[in-house]
Amino acid sequence: MMNLHKLILTENACYKAGRTITVKGIMVHSTGANNPNLKRYVGPNDGLLGENQYGNHWNTYHPGGREVCVHAFIGKLADGTIATYQTLPWNHRGWHAGGSANNTHIGFEICEDGLTDYTYFQKVYREAVELCAYLCKEYGLTEQNIICHSEGYKQGIASNHGDVMHWFPKHGKSMDTFRAEVKALLAADTKEDTEDTVEPVVTYPEKLTSGYYRVRKTWKDSKSQVGAYRVLANAKAAADKNPGTHVFTNDGVAIYPVDDATDSGTTDYRIHTVVKGDTLWDIAALYLGKGSRYPEIKTLNGLKSNVIYSGWKLKIPN
Ligand SMILES: [Zn+2]
Repeated sequence: MMNLHKLILTENACYKAGRTITVKGIMVHSTGANNPNLKRYVGPNDGLLGENQYGNHWNTYHPGGREVCVHAFIGKLADGTIATYQTLPWNHRGWHAGGSANNTHIGFEICEDGLTDYTYFQKVYREAVELCAYLCKEYGLTEQNIICHSEGYKQGIASNHGDVMHWFPKHGKSMDTFRAEVKALLAADTKEDTEDTVEPVVTYPEKLTSGYYRVRKTWKDSKSQVGAYRVLANAKAAADKNPGTHVFTNDGVAIYPVDDATDSGTTDYRIHTVVKGDTLWDIAALYLGKGSRYPEIKTLNGLKSNVIYSGWKLKIPN
């Protein structure tokens, strides 16, 4: 996971200029100097960055006499861990591209080291991938909207700098691998989101295409059956007309009336009403302390599969 912090460079003339942009892309930079420490660029010390003894970080009007400012830096904290520091509001117009990309692109710098340390590279590269995936989601962008500074120069929207292509290829990477990894991360997140919103249990079907809703006093007492119905509403109506009967699924689970248990008189179980999102594992974990005990619930309820439906009244062993 990205290690995102925020320290807006409010003293920088770029911040003070106060212009905003409509974000249409992201430009990846690297600093061009051998200093992987965030404190070189981001300050003052927030307790994590460490002290910049030279006071030459970019939270000053014109850092080093230059009109420069970016939206974020990726590098090392004082304790050596890798972090991202947001240094401008994302939709603020940055001074990073030396061209018209300033009007459209978020720009961030990866702090360079000596360019030969593979471990450091891997960490900051991954951090940059995650930052870009995060920003793509925030601003409705895709990996195709990500370029590095040197690509921006080729497109005529940035000054003539080589970053990051003087560095990434030393470690077997390129902007194409970078974009591919952002794409993969976005796809994985989308899948996760979909899984979150998909209903793991479906609403009880109003009309069956196989099997029947059976209306009986108890599941075992098949002789008490007053009818078998494809349509749930008809089964419920029959149960209403015949006090003491219940609607059972084809598997023998009582689902109506909802406020009653089938084996009245016995109290050696509790009832759990299944809601959207429930799984047998979760229910077992909740009531029995261990998800792995879910077969006990299956047995008690005569379930043949692990599929459960919202609205079901499941007996839970005491
Ligand atoms: Zn650059």
